[in-house]
Order: sequence, then C-alpha cells, then structure tokens
Amino acid sequence: MPTEKRIAALHPEMTAWRRDIHSHPELGFEERRTSDFVAAKLAEFGVEVHRGIGRTGVVGVLRAGSSARSVGLRADMDALPIHEANAFAHRSTNEGRMHACGHDGHTTMLLGAAKYLAETRQFDGAVHFIFQPAEEGLGGAKAMIDDGLFRRFPCEAIFGMHNRPGMPLGEFAVRAGPMMAGGAFFDIDIEGRGAHGARPEASVDPVLVACHVTVALQSIVSRNVRPVETAVVSVTQIHGGNAYNVIPQSARLSGTARAFSSEVIELIGRNLARIAEGVAAGFGARAKTDYRPIFAPLINDPVEAEFAAAICADLVGPDRVRRDPALNMASEDFSFMLNEVRGCYINIGNGDGEGACEVHNPSYDFNDAALPYGAGFFARLVEKRLAKPSSR
Ligand SMILES: [Zn+2]
Ligand SMILES: [Zn+2]
Repeated sequence: MPTEKRIAALHPEMTAWRRDIHSHPELGFEERRTSDFVAAKLAEFGVEVHRGIGRTGVVGVLRAGSSARSVGLRADMDALPIHEANAFAHRSTNEGRMHACGHDGHTTMLLGAAKYLAETRQFDGAVHFIFQPAEEGLGGAKAMIDDGLFRRFPCEAIFGMHNRPGMPLGEFAVRAGPMMAGGAFFDIDIEGRGAHGARPEASVDPVLVACHVTVALQSIVSRNVRPVETAVVSVTQIHGGNAYNVIPQSARLSGTARAFSSEVIELIGRNLARIAEGVAAGFGARAKTDYRPIFAPLINDPVEAEFAAAICADLVGPDRVRRDPALNMASEDFSFMLNEVRGCYINIGNGDGEGACEVHNPSYDFNDAALPYGAGFFARLVEKRLAKPSSR
C-alpha cells in the first residue's frame, strides 16, 4: 500500500488521539499526561522511548537497516493559559488551559508518522521523533538541547512543522533563509515618588513617566534600526497605581521586541535601556530595565528547504506549495534546534474556511482534516531522506 493510502487509513485513529490531547491541555513543562500519552503510543508502535529530556520531553528512536544516517522530526506538546470558548465535545477539561496553537495536532501528526514508519520500515537509518515541551516562551527546545538532545540522538538534519490558519487545507509553505523573527521580552520598572492625587507638586509621577517612555520607545524602530531591517517594539502592559486619588510610587512597563537578526535584537535592547533611563531621569525618576532575548531568529537551511519543498510537492503537487510565504514576525523556539543542526521548518494549511480562526484565539481548533497531510509529509520525508540502498 503506498504511503498516502496507509496514512489515510490512520486518519480516524489520529483524530481520536488529537481530540484526546485537545481535551487535556497542559502548560509548558507540565505536560505529564501528554508525555505519558506520547510515550505509551510510541512503545505500543515498537519505537524505543527516552523520557525526561528537557524535563517533560520525549524522544522516540526507530531504526531500520544498517545505515548510520539519521533524521530528526520535532513536534511541540504544550498548551496555553487561555479559557477555551468552544463548546464541542473535545473542548478543554482543564479550566484556563487550552490547545489554542494546535500543538495537539503537531504531536498527533508526528505520532501518526511514527506508527506508519514503525509498521512499514521502508528506510535505512535512524529516525528520532522529538516531542518537545514548553514551546510557548518557556524554553523547551533549549532545555532539551541542554539535556544533550543532539549528543545522545545525533541528527543529520531536523524538520519541524506548524499549522497556519487561513492557508487552505492540503497546502504547505516553505521558505529558505529567515522565516520567523527572533524575540525578546522586557520589563521596565519606573521608580518615582508617591503623593496625594491632588498634590502633584509633591510627587515624581511614574505614570506620566511610563507614558513618555512608551512613546519614546517607538523611535527605536524608526530612528535606531536600519530602515532595510525589519523590527517590532511593542509595549503590551502598563501597570501602576490602584486608587483614584493616589499618585503611585512606581509603575511597570512590559513588552516584546522582534527582529530577524540577533544583532538587531541586541541593538533594540541597548537603545531601550538608554531611552527608558534617560527619559525617566529627565522627569526626576529612575528606570531599571530587564531585557531578555527569548527566541533566536528562525533560519531555514536553503538546501534543506529545497528538500522539504520537494517532499511537499511530491505529496500535494507543486502548485500547492508556497515557496515565498511572507516573513512572520512571530517567534518559534525550534530556531534553537536549527542553530545546532541544519534543517527546515515548514507551515501546513489549517484551512481557510471554518478552521481559519487564528492561533492563540479562544475559539481556535486544530483542523483534523490536516492530520494526514502532516503525517504524510514526515513519513515521506524519512523514506526519501533515508532511502533504502535499492531505492536510492
Ligand atoms: Zn503559539
Ligand atoms: Zn505554536
């Protein structure tokens, strides 16, 4: 039976796994049930299971033939702190937790590929199935790498995938070079002097300072970053005060910066601190900045991007593979794995109809109709990459 038919036969089973994971979402590094589920399935398929890599991370190893070649396939497992708005039967049963980014689907597609490959073993080498915890800003990829991921499970190349709402089902998007931005989070603590709300002359008003700092930070992208570069600075939180008639003692600004090179991310950090401290000093207040780069820019290896695009084209036809998707200012910590091992990250269509609700939205749901495409991509990739001597 060809890959597609056999994967299609797994569709009902994959749908059941996906909905099971969806209804039991867990936050980063708390994926205990999810990693139990993944480990049990892998063991059932006859895949060798390694647990506790990056705390709740799981690696499955499947070997066939005698070749020393290897490939790594990665899926993320964590959910988000969102209250699910959906009413369907597989909605979240963990209050305030939700699979709103489709990692339930990513995990399922990789499990589907593992089941197929374990049954058919039409390849020569080792496949490392990497189930990563804590992708949503908590550093799961780094935790796995620090735990010796690539030392213990060497990979010639690695591949990852994320669903994209708004892109039709059965379509893929692949880009060589930069694909997603690197990013930092920041906090700026402004220390003023508290006073009665009716006696501003006795205060150093940190709320006013916070407003001026927020406006001044907008000049980083327009005046400090080279115009041909792409960057974002967003202040996403302003906290200060809790009474109508009290000028508070302090205020806090928080937010995020994004760019496609580590140099620009660092440049933003330096300017952000100087502007915040300088503006605050101008008002007689003090600012303390904590700027933390969290994600590296995601850069696809051009050769591996070409290879991944060819696999997609093989699967769905070249006209359903977007070769030049727009740059995405969001971030993805698979970038840290790509800094260690060459590889490629691709997007898979989650549908442009009803399933087009954006990720991180309380009404989002992964589209089960996409499961065979993602599992099919991983399976075909392994059979091509680690082709048996006879079929090379
Ligand atoms: Zn997300
Ligand atoms: Zn995600």
